Amino acid sequence: MIVMKFGGSSVASAERIATVAKIIATYTEKRPIIALSAMGDTTDYLLEAADRALAGVVDIERVKALHLDAIKELGIDVPELAPLLDSIETLLRGVSMLRELSKRTRDYLVSFGERLSVRIMAAWLRKQGIPARAMDAWDAGIFSDSAFMQAEPLASVWETIPKAFAEYQAGVDRQVPVVTGFIAKDAHGDITTLGRGGSDLTATLLGAALGAEEVQTWKDVDGILTADPRIVKDARLVPEVTYDEAAELAHFGAQVLHPRSMTPCRKTGTLVRVKNSYNMASPGTVITAEHKPKIAPVRVITMIKGVRLIDIVSSRMLGASGFLAHIFNQFLKWNISVDVVATSEVSVSLTVNTPEDLTGLLEDVGRVAAVECRTGKAIISVICDVRRSSAILADCFAALEAEHINVQMISQGASKVNISLICDDPEADRAIQALHRAFFG
Ligand code: ASP
Ligand code: MG
Repeated sequence: MIVMKFGGSSVASAERIATVAKIIATYTEKRPIIALSAMGDTTDYLLEAADRALAGVVDIERVKALHLDAIKELGIDVPELAPLLDSIETLLRGVSMLRELSKRTRDYLVSFGERLSVRIMAAWLRKQGIPARAMDAWDAGIFSDSAFMQAEPLASVWETIPKAFAEYQAGVDRQVPVVTGFIAKDAHGDITTLGRGGSDLTATLLGAALGAEEVQTWKDVDGILTADPRIVKDARLVPEVTYDEAAELAHFGAQVLHPRSMTPCRKTGTLVRVKNSYNMASPGTVITAEHKPKIAPVRVITMIKGVRLIDIVSSRMLGASGFLAHIFNQFLKWNISVDVVATSEVSVSLTVNTPEDLTGLLEDVGRVAAVECRTGKAIISVICDVRRSSAILADCFAALEAEHINVQMISQGASKVNISLICDDPEADRAIQALHRAFFG
């Protein structure tokens, strides 16, 4: 058994849906379970529709047209779509009347994207002669807590998922399950979402809980690349990364996989493979627990721009012992997430890469420390084997020095697979090109 996950762009149109069905057809022997995202930008369209409903305008034309045009072009009839589309409209009417949209309602609203796409895909597979059925996440045993928009799967999914697929696994049921990615249900029966891009987590959860041979996540790139090919022209395919490296590079700017999606497969050692739906022949990137020996120390170089760097130096009001605790408590109070940190006895530098207003936080921190916040920074992360950091750092600094690029902060060691460097935004492209040349020639 394998799990195959297709993201929004892989199912963005009738043509793409047909391509995906062809890919699935070549794997029917493996008894696949399909995890699907909403078509194209449906999730964004639904969120936009919600904002407009809040302003009093109910309009789901874009969502309707995308789905109805697709089934028309495919020449299939999918009777389950109409009631779902009606429900979206009714919901938005409610939002426009109440002028109110809770996180719970938002999750309920965006859930329709995946519920629509799986029904279209299942119908199209059946038309191709492949027995298939659409499944909502909760029928597939996927349940979560009630942290709407960022829900965490419950521990019980390790039992509820295998239960839901017992007949398929036993070969009694031969209909290929096409499961909604991204969504779940909580203990109260409310629909939740696992965070943007959460279909990856759906797929790895299914694969790990079912002991699948592998989880394939199909993208529109060949796999994980050594750097962003828009910036580094000769970026190349990375044949293999570990779960830890994959999670780290997802956190630090590579938009290949959902950062949390490695957790279930890391637990079970289930192999994950990133494949290209535009280029089936490419072997893709394999994600596993450990590297074979003697692999080059640097795997991938990623980048996040538009980051703020905050330097905090303790004033005498606070002793060195409580300093960090106090500082991080202020970040907790203001719910600001920190990415890279470097500390000394009485000072700490850290980066924030979310857009929140920091005025309140900086005022609070400013009561006990001198604080300076600088904008326009970039985090460059070298995803590598940190055990070889001396050699890697020597090469990094030589490459950056030759480009006259100043590193303003560095963090190494907390994660065993990431060395992060901070530089100025405008220099970041040049920096990543220089580092790529240094490590990948
Ligand atoms: N459709 C959701 C999103 O756009 C989930 C996903 O694509 O993985 O975020
Ligand atoms: Mg999407």
